[in-house]
Parts: sequence; structure tokens; C-alpha cells
Amino acid sequence: MHRLALLLSLAPAPALAQKDDFSKVTIKTTQVADGLYMLEGAGGNIGVAVGDDGVFVIDDQFAPLAPKVKAAIAALTKKPIKFILNTHWHGDHVGGNEAFAAGGAVIVAHENVRKRMSTEQFIERFGKKVPPSPRGALPIVTFTRDLTFHWNGDEIQVTHVAAAHTDGDSIVRFKKANVVHTGDCFVTIAYPFVDRSSGGSYQGVIAAADQLLATSDARTRFIPGHGVLSARADVEKWKAMLSTIRERVQRGIAAKKTLAEIQASQPTKDWDPRLGKGFIKPNDLIAVVYGELTAAK
Ligand SMILES: [Zn+2]
Repeated sequence: MHRLALLLSLAPAPALAQKDDFSKVTIKTTQVADGLYMLEGAGGNIGVAVGDDGVFVIDDQFAPLAPKVKAAIAALTKKPIKFILNTHWHGDHVGGNEAFAAGGAVIVAHENVRKRMSTEQFIERFGKKVPPSPRGALPIVTFTRDLTFHWNGDEIQVTHVAAAHTDGDSIVRFKKANVVHTGDCFVTIAYPFVDRSSGGSYQGVIAAADQLLATSDARTRFIPGHGVLSARADVEKWKAMLSTIRERVQRGIAAKKTLAEIQASQPTKDWDPRLGKGFIKPNDLIAVVYGELTAAK
């Protein structure tokens, strides 16, 4: 993986976008299905659907990358970009909104994405304030539960999942192409980032994984929020990991262990070699799970 991409992975930070150098980032395009592509640069993976009706885009990374993303899309089709769907409000997924909206795209997202982008936010994990987005970057079509686009001969089913990575997450399913963009409800390069200051919930991340499994089959391809193109078996493993970690932490709580003792028992050890060096450290994740399970009592 590109070093900058790794640094910026899962980082919902317009502040990062300003101080970091995006000049070295290149956009890599991978075909996922007929007329469907995954674009990787720095930030969340982008989904692009091209066809006679025009271009439908899922997420748009950081603002400085918008010209490169546009060029990558222009290499696929001469049709205009009509819609941008934001899977959630973090800066590494919505940064390009203003540029694409200025070019004529309609920005669409769950209503909580617009709410959070409209006002100053504080992301606990970074101890960082995020200023309100400019008006031109805001989603102008919002929804509460789900929304279907009849587009390029497919049905694009956008479904809001209950509080998971944030409180405004959407998963996007291309019914005919059998491809799902998961947003940050599923990632392959790190433990889940439960942004509690944005209304996220670990239990919700598990529920979202259940939903991804319930609406897919063995041939479904998954574009994760961050990481590599995946199959249903990968989502199954993710779900099993999340559940096992929850069970282990729960067992520690039942045995009256403190958070520090549970952390010392390494409930994430099976996955630490692969995911533990990512942006969410094992002890961070355990603290989130512990906090949720003890708060629920
Ligand atoms: Zn995110």
C-alpha cells in the first residue's frame, strides 16, 4: 500500500488534508464488474458506476485529490458525474464534495451526514475539531432509511444502518451487478473505528456486518471503506472476529476484571498480527467494547 494512503487511512481529518502533500498520490482504478470500478488514492475507497445514464460515485476522498479523481473517471467515460453518494461524513470520504457539486453532481447522503457537516464537530479519537463544511459541499438530497437509484440498468440500493462507524452510515448495493460498497462498516486493513463522538457503536458495527451478510451471496463482491476488494467469506470472518472480541471482553467483565486486566488478557491477539498495526490499536478497540458493554448495564 502507498505510504501516504496508509498514513491517511481512516483519518477523517480535513486538517490532515491541508497540511499533507497529496501531490504524490496516484489514483488506481480496478474493475469490479461490468461498468463498476473501485478507485484507490488516499482516503476511503471510491465506487464508480458508469453507463448510458451517467456516472454515479460513492465517496470522494480528500478535496485536493478531486482533480485526479475526475481524471481517473474521465478515463473510463465521457459521461457527466450526476450523483455522489457519501457513506458517512468523515473528511476522507466527503472531501471532494464541493468540487464535484460545482461540476454539476448532486450530493446525496443520510440526513445525519448533512447535520454533522453543517456544524462544527469534535472527533474524540483525534481530539480534533472539524469546522463546518462550506455550503457547496453539503448533501442536497438526504434520506432517513433507504433510497433506490434506478440507474444504468441497475438498482442501486442505499441503506442506512443503525449507528455503527458513525450515526450516518450507508451501505450501497448494486443489485444486478452484485457489488456492495460498505463504507467504513467494513475495512480490511484495520480494526473497526467506532467514532463514538459521531454516534458510532461497536454493537452497530456487528449489526451492519450481519446486514451485509443477509443481503449478499457467495458471489457478491465487496468494496470496503478502506482496504482490498473482498468476498463474502471475508465479511464472514470480520463478523466472527467482532463477535469473538465482544464475547471475550464480556467474559472478562463477568469475571469482574478491570479494563486494564482485560486488555492484558489480549482478547484481540488472534488478529493483532494482521490488523493491530492499523489506525485503531488493540487496546483502543478493547476500551470501546468494554465501555459499551459496561454502559449497557
Ligand atoms: Zn470514516
